[in-house]
Amino acid sequence: MWICSSCNRAFKHNNQAHYCGDKTIGDFLAGKSEFSLSLFDALIAQFNEIGPIQFYATKSMIVIAATVRFAYIINIGKNFVDLVLPFKIAYEDNLCFRKIALVPGSDDYNHHLRLMFVEDLNEEVISYLKKAYDNGKAI
Ligand SMILES: [Zn+2]
Repeated sequence: MWICSSCNRAFKHNNQAHYCGDKTIGDFLAGKSEFSLSLFDALIAQFNEIGPIQFYATKSMIVIAATVRFAYIINIGKNFVDLVLPFKIAYEDNLCFRKIALVPGSDDYNHHLRLMFVEDLNEEVISYLKKAYDNGKAI
């Protein structure tokens, strides 16, 4: 077992490649399964491929932002990662969202996505990640 000194995450292998965030992120990820953490790392890598992002943890979620926040990781389970993408339009015609819900008191529709495999980051999902990212760059 190896614990990265900058983010406090624990790994099987020394110097294992991972997203190295600050300690707050490390706290959020503490105790999560290696499988879920690999999903998390794949998701962050995918966002980084789309464009520069920053993210930070609150008590209940990880907020992902470009210029402004555009995505939320609301749950990291035993073998999944739940991501929420807010859009002004409900994209009902999709294969990837489990739930679309109007956020009370706003005109945002939260699109709920559950990643269960790295392969779930498919073309359709990536297209929505890009759409969300574009919104994250709007000022
Ligand atoms: Zn680290």
